[in-house]
Amino acid sequence: MSVEKDQFRAAMARMGAAVSIITSDGPAGRHGMTVSAVCSVTDQPATLLACINRSSRGYGTLKSNGIVCVNILAPQHEGLCRLFATPGAPTVERFADETEWDTLKTGAPVLRDAAVALDCTVDAINDVGTHGVLFARVQAIRMNERADGLIYFARAFHHLSPPAALRAPAAD
Ligand SMILES: Cc1cc2nc3c(=O)[nH]c(=O)nc-3n(C[C@H](O)[C@H](O)[C@H](O)COP(=O)(O)OP(=O)(O)OC[C@H]3O[C@@H](n4cnc5c(N)ncnc54)[C@H](O)[C@@H]3O)c2cc1C
Repeated sequence: MSVEKDQFRAAMARMGAAVSIITSDGPAGRHGMTVSAVCSVTDQPATLLACINRSSRGYGTLKSNGIVCVNILAPQHEGLCRLFATPGAPTVERFADETEWDTLKTGAPVLRDAAVALDCTVDAINDVGTHGVLFARVQAIRMNERADGLIYFARAFHHLSPPAALRAPAAD
């Protein structure tokens, strides 16, 4: 028993998700791609998973380098998000503005104003169908408490703000 691919895709399009750019650097080169199939696995040890299409350049690069940074995006990153999702867009084009990027612990590119950056080492990759499920151990975290959220839902981008009571106070 199974369902049609298109029906499954339509169902998953109704599952709103945060959007991230997952990056890597190392012997296999620098890379970054847009992903929304990311979730927490466990907090002991802090681990997340990301599902990466095996036909993408990212799959081989992330796997070979063994380090990744999951940069959770904010509303101002919608353009960057589209660029990192454009099939075949050259890596130099995606990272054209060097000032947007720095590093934390592993050396993977960290988006300076990401809502959250989770700097990780890759523990394992399990291939399932067309995708690799990458398990990443979090080595460092940087948060921008004042960032709003960027969500992909029903094949469109949406902006989310925290309730007023939970908003971080403005910096002086
Ligand atoms: C909101 C959103 C969420 C996403 N979430 C995920 C996710 O969770 N996991 C995931 O794996 N992907 C996801 N994607 C898709 C992913 O961002 C893109 O496939 C991206 O292009 C991958 O970049 P890459 O450089 O690693 O691979 P690319 O080299 O860009 O290859 C990606 C695919 O495009 C094909 N391709 C390459 N060059 C061309 C070309 N010139 N013309 C046509 N096709 C070409 C490749 O064969 C491959 O199938 C998401 C995209 C969006 C917009």
